[in-house]
Amino acid sequence: MAEKPAPRILVLDDEPFMLKLLSHMLAKLGFAQVTICGSAHAALEWFDSPGNYPDLILLDLNMPEMDGIEFVRHLVDLHYKGCLILISGEGERMLQAVVKLVQAHKISVLGHLHKPVTPEKLATLLDKWSPPSQSKPQIASKPYSADEVRAAIANGELVNYYQPKVAVATGCVVGVETLVRWHHPHDGVVFPGQFIAVAEAHGLIDDLTRVVLTGALAQTRVWQDAGLTLRVAINVSMGNLDSLDFADFVAGQVAMAGIPPHMVVLEVTESQLMEDPRVPLEIMTRLRMKRIRLSIDDFGTGHSSLAQLRDMPFDELKIDQSFVLGAWNNKTLRAMFDASLGLAKQLKMEAVAEGVEDQDDWDFLRKTECDIAQGFFIGKPMHAASLPDWINSWQIRLQKEFVTTP
Ligand code: C2E
Ligand code: MG
Ligand code: MG
Repeated sequence: MAEKPAPRILVLDDEPFMLKLLSHMLAKLGFAQVTICGSAHAALEWFDSPGNYPDLILLDLNMPEMDGIEFVRHLVDLHYKGCLILISGEGERMLQAVVKLVQAHKISVLGHLHKPVTPEKLATLLDKWSPPSQSKPQIASKPYSADEVRAAIANGELVNYYQPKVAVATGCVVGVETLVRWHHPHDGVVFPGQFIAVAEAHGLIDDLTRVVLTGALAQTRVWQDAGLTLRVAINVSMGNLDSLDFADFVAGQVAMAGIPPHMVVLEVTESQLMEDPRVPLEIMTRLRMKRIRLSIDDFGTGHSSLAQLRDMPFDELKIDQSFVLGAWNNKTLRAMFDASLGLAKQLKMEAVAEGVEDQDDWDFLRKTECDIAQGFFIGKPMHAASLPDWINSWQIRLQKEFVTTP
């Protein structure tokens, strides 16, 4: 394996003892390019000299005069492209809040350390560092105009990808979620985050959903005819639920495709506040009477909340990935995960965990009562044509998993 270059490190802490301790630990771990600063002002002065630019900053949050949070603001102004490790004696939730704040400034955080810092924990975090060229490329989020999105829909440039959903208890593949991608003639594959909001804001979401829905139903029918029975989930926006004919349209398409209605799931996220909740409520109740399944997506975020759950006849609750990923190792997330799961169970809804990214997330879920799991660890969103091969490889992984863990 190629050696990764060592990062240039800046250590910023107001306590001389901590500076000494951290530089000693770093030296022992083999990091030679280390600069220490006893105050944020001193660090900013150091930045002023040409060539002084760290790849990684170990930042104490609690400092007199300029504290760590204020220093981060200066880093934003300096367009700092390196990473941070946050150090503090504050409690876990406080540190997590600061991590979120720093990430919101688009500065990457390798993690946080509680004082007293141990060499092992420091080494674990430093191990996560990778040089900028090897880290994930930054996808420039280009804003698309309504005309471009309209043309994409009309020209058939939207392509459905499908991500597997599996039963946690048995590993059986129960269905797929349809996730739309735009195969842009120049920009390559464009993700929904870059065009769904445009479609919602410019009255194009109905056309988009119709294309996605009909494509997904036709594909499900192909799988069904090939002996592969899968539930198919489609994402719908609140904007789809403001015209009363939506329920009839969906039911009509489902019947025309020859798919049993209970095999179709509509995942609803409420990204905007409802002006008049009566119309969506009527549409959803009618869909439910037609035996189409309803899922509350991203539960616990935005407006996808208790009030929605109280009012709408959902069958499925998707625990947002921000409460799943890493919940095994974080008390706050675990509490939120448990509360969401408990709600789903008490309301007799199926619980789906999104964002199962690694073995730890999966092992954690297997110990819970959660019904269904979805995430990169299981399978990424893929072309319809790749699904049979993925199912084969999943079966092989399952045999190992379910034989070795009783
Ligand atoms: P969502 O419905 O909550 O879909 C899950 C998102 O999480 C997808 O992002 C998926 O690729 C991603 N994901 C899946 N597993 C993992 C994981 O293990 N880790 C992480 N970090 N992410 C994971 P995607 O495809 O970019 O879609 C983003 C959102 O765009 C969707 O969130 C959904 O709200 C919306 N969307 C996608 N397709 C459509 C559509 O056809 N219509 C509408 N209205 N919205 C759509
Ligand atoms: Mg969804
Ligand atoms: Mg979601």
